[in-house]
Amino acid sequence: MSHRDQSFAQIAEERIELLYRFAREVFGTHPSLAKRYVEIARRIGMRCRVRIPRELKRFTCKGCGSLLVPGTNCRVRIKPDRGTILIMTCLSCGKLKRYPMARERRALHRAPCPVVVVRP
Ligand SMILES: [Zn+2]
Repeated sequence: MSHRDQSFAQIAEERIELLYRFAREVFGTHPSLAKRYVEIARRIGMRCRVRIPRELKRFTCKGCGSLLVPGTNCRVRIKPDRGTILIMTCLSCGKLKRYPMARERRALHRAPCPVVVVRP
């Protein structure tokens, strides 16, 4: 990967993070706009072949593409099943996401109010 490609990927990544941040900001008042932002972020990721950061992807519904906000449009449950599993249910389309929790304990505590890290 050349230097040029790297900065290209970095710009794409920054845009993705920014779009998710906008999505969170407008979610309360314009949920459909939030969904659109997430959609654009995912499209940038695909086109630029940049991975959506894990902490952002986690709050995106794989079924309908909504931004998932625990307690608002997504239900979070913990199930002790072969270790502990975190289950997130999208209340718009009913799609489930499952996460084994052994390593994720700290992330869970932050779940209701995820913080997006934007690099300078
Ligand atoms: Zn959904």
